[in-house]
Amino acid sequence: MRRERRGELNGRKKDYYEILGVSRNATQEEIKRAFRRLAKKYHPDLNKDNPKEAEEKFKEISEAYEVLSDPEKRAAYDKYGHAGVDFGPGGFDWSKFTRFSDIEDIFGDFFRDFFKDFGFGRGFGDFGGGSLFEEFFKRRERGAGVGVERERVPRRGSDIFYELEIELEEAARGVTKEIYVEKEQICEDCGGSGAAPGGLRTCEVCGGTGQVRREQHYGFSHFISISTCPRCHGRGEVVERLCETCGGSGRRKVRKRVLVEIPAGVSEGTQIKIAGEGEAGENGGPAGDLIVIVHIRPHKFFKVLRDGDLLCEVPVRFAQLALGDEIPVRTIDGDIVKVKIPAGTEPDAVLKVRKKGMPSIHGRRGDLLVKLKLRVPKRLSRRQKELLREFDKEERTAY
Ligand SMILES: [Zn+2]
Ligand SMILES: [Zn+2]
Repeated sequence: MRRERRGELNGRKKDYYEILGVSRNATQEEIKRAFRRLAKKYHPDLNKDNPKEAEEKFKEISEAYEVLSDPEKRAAYDKYGHAGVDFGPGGFDWSKFTRFSDIEDIFGDFFRDFFKDFGFGRGFGDFGGGSLFEEFFKRRERGAGVGVERERVPRRGSDIFYELEIELEEAARGVTKEIYVEKEQICEDCGGSGAAPGGLRTCEVCGGTGQVRREQHYGFSHFISISTCPRCHGRGEVVERLCETCGGSGRRKVRKRVLVEIPAGVSEGTQIKIAGEGEAGENGGPAGDLIVIVHIRPHKFFKVLRDGDLLCEVPVRFAQLALGDEIPVRTIDGDIVKVKIPAGTEPDAVLKVRKKGMPSIHGRRGDLLVKLKLRVPKRLSRRQKELLREFDKEERTAY
């Protein structure tokens, strides 16, 4: 066996000074500096690939420091070697380490608190036989990842409701409207995973398969159940580092332009569903829908009746009602239709023009109802007055 391994020769423990890399007459300050330097080197976050080995080293330097940082223990060690050190049955474990405060600043808050809770005052057995570093990673993932863990379940995004007002003409002929919707979208930087680039790692529970297999024995029966991995929810990967753009949510707020095709014949309150244009889903869940609620602005000329009929009022003169006429009426399509007034029509009579009302999405078209409003002239010329008197005289003799 070679010289550098002499500390372990014949199963003997390594020399504490050698472990910390200091000389036998090092000052307390030098010992502390050496320990801090090594603790930094074996920090769990810097040794994720070989936590077991790093933890062994960390434990080793901690034990050495525990002894050499205490003048009394150091003196006993100098005199009797390892025989002069008594850590009780089982030797050194984390519950015997009292100098963590000397390196607190090196480790993050989480490790410090974790170590204080589970290192001090408790036996190593409290880790369930596991290692300190493994337990640290596990606990940090669980602890720091409480919110993350909960959100990893695939969930459908919410629907967005958008109230859109259009003109009656637009409702009649159909229209494409451009709207802007504020919504949550999948974060482009992480593709919705919530992980930083390279921040995903294979799930340690299922080994990346996304499934866990359980075997149970009941008497002579033997059950094998295969279920979705509770850790990664079937994705096979878990987030190790969060995406900075979205903070791990996998979503971002955006303002999105959406074209809404409004078919001819929509009625007030019609809902148009645009699938998948709602809020983005979470963790691979589908997006919600965008639901556009159409409102039709009141029209100055047409009134929409039930069944898609349109009512309008047209002023007429007495002579037109009495003698009959043909009047031009504008339709909702912008066309002009000729409406025939039969002779002797009463004021407020309603004339029907078939199939010139509102279309409906089912293809059935309403009628245009033209109400004749008699306009009585307020100012008459001398000639008009003469003629009316003449006319009235004729009328009186007629009855
Ligand atoms: Zn898994
Ligand atoms: Zn992101």
